[in-house]
Amino acid sequence: MATEVVSAYDLDELSADFEHLSAQEIIRWAAEEFGDDLALSSSFGADSAVMLHLATQVKPDLKIITLDTGFLFPETLRWRDELAERLNLNLCIYRPAMTAPDFVAEHGKMWRSNPDACCAFNKREPFNRAKRELGIRCWLTGIRRQQSETRRCAAIAQRDNLGLMKLCPIARWTAKDVHYYLLENDLPYHPLRERGFLSIGCEPEEGFCTTKVKPGQDPRSGRWAGFDKTECGLHVHEQGSGI
Ligand code: SF4
Repeated sequence: MATEVVSAYDLDELSADFEHLSAQEIIRWAAEEFGDDLALSSSFGADSAVMLHLATQVKPDLKIITLDTGFLFPETLRWRDELAERLNLNLCIYRPAMTAPDFVAEHGKMWRSNPDACCAFNKREPFNRAKRELGIRCWLTGIRRQQSETRRCAAIAQRDNLGLMKLCPIARWTAKDVHYYLLENDLPYHPLRERGFLSIGCEPEEGFCTTKVKPGQDPRSGRWAGFDKTECGLHVHEQGSGI
């Protein structure tokens, strides 16, 4: 059972204070406050290189929790390994309790019938397991308010489903901020971005879970297209101010 970490903090006050700090200052605060009990969760998605670079500039040995669901694009796995080598990342790769072929043999194409349950098994459980096994008290994520309607009010300091602290240091960043940061630091976008995938997760079969985004649509509109679902479960059940 994880210890409730956030009860020792006033999340609304922290979030309000963090609104005046840069992303790196927020990460530095977290590194000093939580030390080795801090991690970054990365999907190695479209612009994940930003948070990976920002956070490891502050704490080079930071634990990077990433999930290999068995349904990721091969390009994502290659890109993850390339970035890991280039940035010397301390990768902590977690997998679901069942391999993808076994999961399909037992449950069928659950991403079609019940994507919430599919994400709970293939993402949420291994992510919670990672946080428990690694003794994480606070984790960083690269979610941004501009990415979707559901993220528009994301507070910088939040409570996650286990009572741990979750920080969104680049919540305020726009797509332009991301672009210039990548440019200035000679960092790449995910290779599939130039083919129209602006938010990249699983692709268990073509047309499911990750699809291309049409011009003008929000970046996450290509996720679970056709379903009333916007998040995989890693970013739900948090509390905090809705700044
Ligand atoms: S993103 Fe799709 S395939 Fe991946 S865990 Fe969720 S529903 Fe399943």
